[in-house]
Amino acid sequence: MRSLNFESKKPLLYLVATPIGNLDEMTPRAIEVLSNADLIACEDTRNTGKLLSFFDISKPLISLREHNEMEASDKVVKALLEGKSVAYVSDAGYPCISDPGARLAKVCLENNINISAISGPNAALNALVASGLASDHFYFHGFLNAKESVRLEELRELFKRKETLIFYESPHRIQKTLIDMFTILGDRKACIARELTKKHEEYIRAGLKELSEIDPETLKGEMVIVVEGSLGELKPNVNNDEIISMVENLVESGLSTKDAIKQVSEITRINKNYIYKIFHVN
Ligand code: SAM
Repeated sequence: MRSLNFESKKPLLYLVATPIGNLDEMTPRAIEVLSNADLIACEDTRNTGKLLSFFDISKPLISLREHNEMEASDKVVKALLEGKSVAYVSDAGYPCISDPGARLAKVCLENNINISAISGPNAALNALVASGLASDHFYFHGFLNAKESVRLEELRELFKRKETLIFYESPHRIQKTLIDMFTILGDRKACIARELTKKHEEYIRAGLKELSEIDPETLKGEMVIVVEGSLGELKPNVNNDEIISMVENLVESGLSTKDAIKQVSEITRINKNYIYKIFHVN
């Protein structure tokens, strides 16, 4: 289906990106679209209320978040079909990127409503661009699962990907996640991008081992983790103790000894039989 957004009489939903910290990153176009909207749907009416009042915009708001996205989407579609101009904003950055909005977009398209994205900030891209890691190909994963066994499985599935990997994480899980990443992905180059665009913006570039040993008390605020993709190369300088502890960590995380040895062999490119031997001798 071809859609000429600005040359057709069809209703048009605007998905508007908003700042991820620094309000100076609100674009003139985003302000214009929100100022001209009849209705603004948003993830959290209090957050968006504050943003709008900073820019002297006063509009009717309707809440559309993960838990009511279907019902609220119907209301938005009704308003659009009545000829109203409607914009959707999430709490920060782009709607639909680890935020609600995708179901709304789908329902709009099903109702013959066009969609236009209004450009703006995004935490994943800022982190990737300044991480110093390869940016020609990347894979955005967003949040890993909160449940450890599922998180470890997700990381195992990502293990072979060659693209740079991008994750979102919250401060209360950051250390566990970094330990799991080191255990499964090995000591790859990585970068924690913290508090982007804000006063305390910080980039921590190091191997996953070193990152997993950082005092979590010093890792507060919002964070993106960028990790080097699989190099498909021999992991340098792994000694027998490290090999044994990698196997032990994987077994502790729920793998059978056989699968753990297989995984460590894949990470280190060290022969399975050799790992088996040193693991069982110790
Ligand atoms: N829609 C947003 C976007 O386009 O980036 C992402 C929203 S998601 C619910 C929130 C997560 O994004 C945070 O937990 C963090 O991982 C990341 N994030 C958002 N703002 C950030 C910032 N200023 N600095 C670092 N990470 C940020």
